Amino acid sequence: MKVPSADPPITRALSKEEAARAPMRKMTVIAQDPGVRRDNKIVMSTIDVPAEDLRNGPMGYRVQVVDFDATRRVFHGSHHLPASVVKEPKSWRDGEPRIQRDFRFHAQNTYALVMKTLARFEFALGRRVPWSFRTHQLKVAPHGMADANAFYSPEVEGLVFGYFDGASGEKVFTCLSHDIVVHETTHALLDALRERFMDPSTADQAAFHEGFADVVALLSVFAQSEVVEHLLVGKRRQRAKELFITRRELEPQALEKSALFGLAEQMGAELEGVRGQPLRQSATLTANPKLKDTDEFKEPHRRGELFVAAVMQGFINAWSHYALGAGLRGQKRFPVRRVAQDGADIADLLATMWIRAVDYMPPVHLEFGDALSAALTADFEVRPDDRRYELRKHMRDSFEAFGFRPASDRPDGTGLWRQPPPGLKYDRVRFESLKTEKDEVFRFIWDNREPELLNLRDGAYTEVLSVQPVTRVGVDGFVVRETVAQYYQVARLTPDEMRDVGIQAPREYLRSLGETAKAFAKGAVADGDEGEDTPAPPADVDAIEAKTTPLYGGGVLIFDEYGRVKYFVENDVFGRKQNARLAYLWKEGLLEPGEKSARLHATRLSTLHRLRALRPVTSRAQRW
Ligand SMILES: [Zn+2]
Repeated sequence: MKVPSADPPITRALSKEEAARAPMRKMTVIAQDPGVRRDNKIVMSTIDVPAEDLRNGPMGYRVQVVDFDATRRVFHGSHHLPASVVKEPKSWRDGEPRIQRDFRFHAQNTYALVMKTLARFEFALGRRVPWSFRTHQLKVAPHGMADANAFYSPEVEGLVFGYFDGASGEKVFTCLSHDIVVHETTHALLDALRERFMDPSTADQAAFHEGFADVVALLSVFAQSEVVEHLLVGKRRQRAKELFITRRELEPQALEKSALFGLAEQMGAELEGVRGQPLRQSATLTANPKLKDTDEFKEPHRRGELFVAAVMQGFINAWSHYALGAGLRGQKRFPVRRVAQDGADIADLLATMWIRAVDYMPPVHLEFGDALSAALTADFEVRPDDRRYELRKHMRDSFEAFGFRPASDRPDGTGLWRQPPPGLKYDRVRFESLKTEKDEVFRFIWDNREPELLNLRDGAYTEVLSVQPVTRVGVDGFVVRETVAQYYQVARLTPDEMRDVGIQAPREYLRSLGETAKAFAKGAVADGDEGEDTPAPPADVDAIEAKTTPLYGGGVLIFDEYGRVKYFVENDVFGRKQNARLAYLWKEGLLEPGEKSARLHATRLSTLHRLRALRPVTSRAQRW
């Protein structure tokens, strides 16, 4: 049997004209982390990143590497990167262990992986993705602090990677781990796409930021066939004739062990504390629908691991199934390179599916079932024919095994979002403006505000957050044009008002609110007695506002290329999920009266990434 050949080796630089026109360029990065070795050389990978003329730093149009160490107050200088892959030092391409101390290489590794992740998101979503803050360039500090940690911070508008002394005495740099760089970049991108997902809301939403960042990071590692091949070959001798694996080695449990667990084993043990154990858990957690209801798995990080395990086990099942099915009847040995390539292709498709899913997720109060329906729908729109890998079926099955079902109860069992309600009115909106203008989208929502249509609630403030025209390309060149619009509703209610709209908040919370409300009511009565010309003390209004937790709702509208709504995904600002959210926040101690949600925002960030020094800032929530 002929083993399919790899890409031809890169032998010459592109000519100036070729380079100027090429949309992408190649850069060498560490395939996973410096601990993953073959013949004592670090396994490297050549990845495609958007081409641009970099200034020293490197500084590009979306990313600015600032090699400043805030702990030691040292600036390591602006790095000048090689102009093309053939000009890179041989030590980089060969994966010489000494590149672990080459800060210029560190700068390239970090820059390239951040840009690759951004490009992956922009390709999947079919549009530019701005950062969550105003500036165009994300600041990235590859050696930003002496700490076994890395984090994304909207306040510093960037990513900070730490370094520390490893057990072996060598310095460990988090910026050299593929999954850590992609993980932090994914936090930044998800925050830009769904600004309310960092808020405390439900156990699932708290877990989602972490789980999603892990999933994109792990699938990004597996999308490199170099890594997959290395894992499959394992310890066996690497003479070309022996590069086959057996049928038994392709069974799901065996693949899980060699690929998922194998990678976890090879990663530097020092980094375990930084990245948690999502990879190890994704291989070792036995699927069980009851886990999600245990106290242990209500803690955000553990719950995030359930999400990771569901996606990664679905990945392994799809891959195993396809690889075995692609062989001839009775075939006993399969070429490793082809199996690795299949695995990398499936990982890539799944990463795209999950990134696209974000556009189809409700803007607030996400649960895993919503995320799953969003992924299934996003994938179906661009890749209606799923017979090749059956990715949607494998995702549904693996989530079900962990007790998570699609939020959509469509009768056909596909788990896709339902069609929009019939009777939507389009007569007064202008289609061209609907593709780009918030006011036009708001008009559409306003015109359709009835409960049986878009269900815009009286008594809540409504704001259209974003309107994005997108062009998505499927694997077969199939093009889908859509407009994605997000809006949200916010309300602050007194206990009586909550009761009126049917929200059941925890009793102790209501009591604490009730006292404020009583004081407020007293003030208002006294005010009335004294006549109209005495102004009410404004402090009371502030006091009651400060003591109520805002309720959020909102929706996503997906318009097709003719301006008709294809999907409408909503979370009612006075709906059932509010009860669960308030109960969760109360239980977690996040609903203390008198605390504003900006405080909640900071609490969440710091628990996730130990951002101790962060000053709480006013979030959007405070401006309405
Ligand atoms: Zn994280």
